[in-house]
Amino acid sequence: MDQLKQIIRDIPDFPKKGIIFKDITTLLADAKSFHRMVDLMAHRYIGAKIDQIVGIEARGFLLGSALAYKLGTGITLVRKPGKLPFQTSSVSYDLEYGRDTLEIHKDAFNPGDRVIIADDLLATGGTMAAVVELVRNNGGVIHECAFMAELEFLQGRRKLPEGIVYSLLKF
Ligand code: AMP
Repeated sequence: MDQLKQIIRDIPDFPKKGIIFKDITTLLADAKSFHRMVDLMAHRYIGAKIDQIVGIEARGFLLGSALAYKLGTGITLVRKPGKLPFQTSSVSYDLEYGRDTLEIHKDAFNPGDRVIIADDLLATGGTMAAVVELVRNNGGVIHECAFMAELEFLQGRRKLPEGIVYSLLKF
């Protein structure tokens, strides 16, 4: 696990001063690390009867589609406004400055579908909390919210439902 953590690169002051950005592109680009990360995460869900993976734009698509392939499920996209072509449901949430919105296709789930929501990194938890609401409002039952990495000091878990949050790498 330490090897996987070490390959993630810290970029100070990106995208703005004071933020240390965890650059996961180095992990994705390294064949051994990428395979290990996906295998470890998929292993957790073998036998869990998952119907659908939900990937959050944009880096959540990468983990999400790899997990979906491994688990033999489909993948549903949660995207920024105006990107999905069919009828959508949306959710808006607060950012540090201003608000943001995410959308999902209205027919994404059959009622009661069990889903895993995938994203690259848990920071403050605001994004995932919004997607939890979006998935539940559209009939999905959340098995787990799955992250490659978590910034524990930001305590993003506090914004999320208890007992259904998993991260592979903790910083
Ligand atoms: P949050 O809503 O604060 O949990 O953050 C949501 C998204 O912002 C995550 O999916 C990450 O892609 C990105 N993000 C936030 N903080 C960082 C960080 N320090 N390094 C890399 N990505 C970040």
